[in-house]
Amino acid sequence: MKKVLVLEDESSIRSFIVINLIRAGYEVVEAETGEEALEKLSENPDVRVTLLDIMLPGIDGFEVCRRVRAAYPHIGIIMLTARSQEMDKVTGLMTGADDYVTKPFSPAELTARVDALLRRAGDALLVSASVGEISQPPFLLNMTDRVVEKNGKRLKLTQLEYQIMKLFMENPDKALTREEILDTVWGRGYFGEVKIVDVNIRRLRLKIEDDAQEPRYIATVWGTGYKWSTD
Ligand code: CA
Repeated sequence: MKKVLVLEDESSIRSFIVINLIRAGYEVVEAETGEEALEKLSENPDVRVTLLDIMLPGIDGFEVCRRVRAAYPHIGIIMLTARSQEMDKVTGLMTGADDYVTKPFSPAELTARVDALLRRAGDALLVSASVGEISQPPFLLNMTDRVVEKNGKRLKLTQLEYQIMKLFMENPDKALTREEILDTVWGRGYFGEVKIVDVNIRRLRLKIEDDAQEPRYIATVWGTGYKWSTD
């Protein structure tokens, strides 16, 4: 079942997206407002990916994103942004989105992004068959439940953030390039930009560091990427 929810208030853009997703083999649920989107999500628990417009009457796409992320951690979220909204991309990802697509986009680009996100979600389900724990105090990563605890308290991570943490904790004190992180976590089929890694790391630091301004665990390796520091 490949069900996608499309939230877009402009009917011409919404139809364009819906027609192309249906053509690509998806089942589509449509919503015109954020409120309607949240209602339809509760009626359709099998939705795997949501496409969220930002500028909407009523609650905006960022707020919808926050609420979807809080209620349905397993659902993939792609924000639909306008070209002039460069900052919005970052804000959107900070509120829990997995990816963004800039308008105007081609049908091929849109379905490629949805496919990539679904594939990652699918991989995540397969990986969840793995068991075991990685203990690196104060962190404990549990592969069965796909959760990370810090000082015994469960961190609220998205599936992508969990996968980044797993990659780090499996490679302690090793410098990882942005490309390695992108390939491992997002998959080789990912079409987006490598800076999505930086945005996710920034968000992850806010969740796991004692002080995100002075990161102690996720160290920046200038010009390369990041390193999980265990000392
Ligand atoms: Ca709009």
